[in-house]
Amino acid sequence: MGFNIAIDGPAGAGKSTIAKKVAKEKGYIYVDTGAMYRAMALYLIRNKIDPNDENAISAGCRSADITLQYERGEQIVLLNGENVSGLIRTEEVGNMASVSSANKDVRTKLVELQQKLAADADVVMDGRDIGTCVLPDADVKVYLTASARERAGRRYKQLKAKGQDCDLDTIEKDIIERDHRDMTREISPLKQAEDAVLIDSSDLTIGQVVRAILDLCK
Ligand code: C5P
Repeated sequence: MGFNIAIDGPAGAGKSTIAKKVAKEKGYIYVDTGAMYRAMALYLIRNKIDPNDENAISAGCRSADITLQYERGEQIVLLNGENVSGLIRTEEVGNMASVSSANKDVRTKLVELQQKLAADADVVMDGRDIGTCVLPDADVKVYLTASARERAGRRYKQLKAKGQDCDLDTIEKDIIERDHRDMTREISPLKQAEDAVLIDSSDLTIGQVVRAILDLCK
């Protein structure tokens, strides 16, 4: 078992930015579990699977082979052998992922892969259920959050920077809906693990959050 750092929190809390920097500082592998759920969602969208049809999602997810690779320190997500890293960051895929991730078979498949990755290496893993479900014995657990408006503002800037057309109020509405779905679903809902340290990043710089997590690793 490697040294495991689990970072959970709602959409847009800055988990991936922070987790990547912590991983770099520690020389650990960064595992973005959201990217796995997004790759699965892309597969379901491409195959025109109805998000409300549980049986179709359960059946569909069996034919989606999702793997992670690392190229020059960057995580690459492969869907049935195709690099889909550049295709999964849209709001459409994020919203589908938030629905399809509530499916038991999708979770069983991806959690198994995540646990295997953490068993073999030192990892910083971010997601929604890492401290509560995927790595209950993680060495360090953090629950990273920020206000919905602050998170929407960050997402808005990211999308604009990529040249995508977007609207702040719509993003905030989507974030609130996604939080609600993630927090109220039956299987592995998003919640702070009892032994996780709460960090609210609304008024903190990225550097301050990274420092706080590195201090927890001592
Ligand atoms: O973090 P990201 O926004 O990329 O995640 C997309 C969706 O995948 C989330 O809204 C959530 O529903 C789901 N997810 C999850 N469990 C994880 C990571 C992500 O259910 N460990």
